[in-house]
Amino acid sequence: MEEMMKEFFRYTSDPYRAISEWKDASKKKVVGVFPMWLPEEIIHASGMLPVVMWRSNEAITWGYAHVPSYNCPMNKSVVDDAVKGKLKFMDGMVFLRECLQSQEVPYIIENNACPPFEEYLYLPPIYHGDKASKGFTRDEFEKLRAGLEKFTGEKITDEKLRESIRIYNRNRSLLRRLYEIRREKPGILKGRDILRIVWASMLMPKEEHSKLLEKLISELEKKDYVQAKGKKVFLSGCLCIHPQLELMDMIEALGMLVVDDDIYVGYRYFANDAQLTDDPIGAMVERYFIKTPVDPAKGEVELHWGDELVEKVKKVGAEGIITLLTKYCPPHLCYYPDIKVKLADAGIPEVLIEVEHEIISLEGIRTRLQSFKEMIGGV
Ligand code: SF4
Repeated sequence: MEEMMKEFFRYTSDPYRAISEWKDASKKKVVGVFPMWLPEEIIHASGMLPVVMWRSNEAITWGYAHVPSYNCPMNKSVVDDAVKGKLKFMDGMVFLRECLQSQEVPYIIENNACPPFEEYLYLPPIYHGDKASKGFTRDEFEKLRAGLEKFTGEKITDEKLRESIRIYNRNRSLLRRLYEIRREKPGILKGRDILRIVWASMLMPKEEHSKLLEKLISELEKKDYVQAKGKKVFLSGCLCIHPQLELMDMIEALGMLVVDDDIYVGYRYFANDAQLTDDPIGAMVERYFIKTPVDPAKGEVELHWGDELVEKVKKVGAEGIITLLTKYCPPHLCYYPDIKVKLADAGIPEVLIEVEHEIISLEGIRTRLQSFKEMIGGV
């Protein structure tokens, strides 16, 4: 099992190097996609490798000439990496309308470190039953398809799109199976390992990731499982970025076991499939419009994140929620008070941990998590 994990870890330990090496070996192009819900399948169908942009582990320096320090880690990190030249291996970048902060990123990059291919998708806020929103989204997806065709000189046929959707659905279903195993056998894998497996799926070719994951799942299904001790908790939030691995270790060291989550580098990324139909672009539009997990960055008018969390926590038998708030993410911050009230009304203990770009005060976090553990009944 260790051998299989090595490849996942190679990508997440140094994504810049691992992706560049893949690019040199495959002689293919790489396109960075901004989180959280761009249709990667369209880029995959163009013959290039879509990789989800990530938060680096390096201190922000040059980036502060372009973005204020109160922007979220995702925006700061991508801009910092781009202006330092660390993303030069990317042949393209695709951005989307997500939150106010992220809307300035493509323009900063365009003016300072423009890649050969750049596209911006204006995905509209979600109004259910609103045909215009879906029509607009379809036009944006088609715009991406046309832009990629022009860039590569290759036609992206519906057949190619369906094949990419099939490959992506396969990977998503394997990741869902991995989560199912964790719910059934909490602690079977360390939290940091699950996180790195999901993150690796955003960085490496889905075909390779699925092959490794299939083997890993079959090993996990056979593996003897000794009931792990610990209070079951649910992780929520952490939009756009991966939380620090040390944070995952700390949760476990304090005697808690993560049984499920709705974080982006987690369940949110692979929760929903696109259907395999005669209209692949339409299927990806429908996937974008699926309402769960609730997403505050889609500009959805009616949003009941708190209710969804109450339901999920009860379903998986978690004893509390650890909210990871990407600092300072306005979409999450706007809905957090409502979530807090809903959880309190339902009697579900919750603790808020802010996730910053640079290394956070681990001692301060340890104290908060320790108190939370005592609150849910552990010492
Ligand atoms: S949604 Fe939040 S985390 Fe994502 S880019 Fe916007 S502010 Fe940052």
